[in-house]
Amino acid sequence: MSEFSLELSEEQEQLRDWVHQFSVDVVRPAAEEWDEREEFPYPIVQQAAEIGLYSWDFLAQGMLGDKTGLTIPVAIEELFWGDAGIGMAIMGSALAAAGIAASGTQEQVMEWVPQCYGDAADLKLGAFCASEPDAGSDVGGYRLRAVYDEATDEWVLNGTKAWITNGGIADIHVVVGVVDPELGSKGHASFIVPPGTPGLSQGQKYRKHGIRASHTAEVVLDEVRVPGRCLLGGKEKLDERLARVRRGEKGNAQAAMQTFEATRPAVGAQAIGVARAAYEYSLEYAKERHAFGRPIIANQGIAFMLADMATEIDASRMLVWRAAWLAKNGEFRNAEGSMAKLKAGRTATWVTERAIQILGGYGYTREYPVERWHRDAKIHDIFEGTEQIQQLVISRAISGMRIE
Ligand SMILES: Cc1cc2nc3c(=O)[nH]c(=O)nc-3n(C[C@H](O)[C@H](O)[C@H](O)COP(=O)(O)OP(=O)(O)OC[C@H]3O[C@@H](n4cnc5c(N)ncnc54)[C@H](O)[C@@H]3O)c2cc1C
Repeated sequence: MSEFSLELSEEQEQLRDWVHQFSVDVVRPAAEEWDEREEFPYPIVQQAAEIGLYSWDFLAQGMLGDKTGLTIPVAIEELFWGDAGIGMAIMGSALAAAGIAASGTQEQVMEWVPQCYGDAADLKLGAFCASEPDAGSDVGGYRLRAVYDEATDEWVLNGTKAWITNGGIADIHVVVGVVDPELGSKGHASFIVPPGTPGLSQGQKYRKHGIRASHTAEVVLDEVRVPGRCLLGGKEKLDERLARVRRGEKGNAQAAMQTFEATRPAVGAQAIGVARAAYEYSLEYAKERHAFGRPIIANQGIAFMLADMATEIDASRMLVWRAAWLAKNGEFRNAEGSMAKLKAGRTATWVTERAIQILGGYGYTREYPVERWHRDAKIHDIFEGTEQIQQLVISRAISGMRIE
């Protein structure tokens, strides 16, 4: 176990500065263009792959080689400071990797996770497919069926997934399916759908409010057959788990939830990156913009807003770092991962809205980046568990009661 410390190590500081520089040189200059194009920014992700930022190695070293848990949040904050849409395009495959790591065996992790990234010469993408058109927060309502065909040792998947980052353009789709509908969310399992599998196709591509450089689409699975070895964790373990649940014993958290729990501090870090971008920009603007013969920051009405923005950002970062440290060094006690994500998402939405206020009319135009940051921030109140779902998790944890 490592001591919790706010002091970053020398390597962490170097990493932070390295990602920051990539954001300054590559991500920020490209942000407006890809937001307007609403397309996956392949050339930018390619550049991230060339320097090793878009790679399984980077993620593995950050996750496995770090006892403090802070390395990944620190890197993500800098990347999303550059741009959240491009940041999501670079981080989207990590959700698939996390899904494989959460439920897969060591061999499955080694086989499939590298295929979510490829390399700079041959870029690959991963997608984690849990949400459905009629069930996002309500994971017990998933309908995509997974049926085992004993004769061929294959799983047959049928159904539609919604809101999937990299959906349809990914090489590896990790799909959460319902094996036993009578067991609700405890009857789920996760499957790898390998590249080029017949029956998997992209449905509608969503046109979004923010993070528009990140590709989000429906994924349709029509009689998709995957080999038995594509069931994450293996059949024996699944059968044992389902048998335990049927006997009324306490089952493990459902597959999708395990993935989201592990990724919440990282999503909080994304939100902080967006908030910090807007805060820094509006602070400089407030010093330069004059009204009534003085810089607008000379008015308490503006200066106090900036003071509150700085305070909220730091408070959010403390919660994210605590959650990231706990995830590595013990376990969450009072849903600290959810607290961090809830607070950071709200902070990003609030701070970016205040940033528009500080820029006045200019803040409301596309000439300045704060309107984009405001649009980008809002997603952090929605995906990987909405505000209300985080509140639900926290209230259950603190009360020990079934809150509906
Ligand atoms: C850009 C984007 C990318 C995404 N990427 C992925 C991805 O890669 N993979 C994936 O699987 N999913 C992804 N999602 C889906 C995302 O996780 C869901 O949108 C989210 O979980 C909410 O589900 P929903 O949209 O169905 O809303 P709903 O669950 O229908 O919720 C609607 C509203 O009701 C509230 N609500 C629901 N239940 C309760 C309750 N019990 N108590 C109080 N309030 C409640 C919610 O908080 C929300 O305000 C993505 C979504 C977006 C927008």
